[in-house]
Amino acid sequence: MYDRIVLACTECKQRNYDTKKDKKKHPDRLERSKYCKFCRKHTIHRETK
Ligand SMILES: [Zn+2]
Repeated sequence: MYDRIVLACTECKQRNYDTKKDKKKHPDRLERSKYCKFCRKHTIHRETK
């Protein structure tokens, strides 16, 4: 079972990416370096509720 999660830029707080993960295997909050079109650079994107 995969849950849908949203990744938000930690700098501008925009929610830029939707993804999925298995919350049982990965209970921790996900962090990914992704391109933010609002910051116009790669930033850390963190899972939101
Ligand atoms: Zn941003």
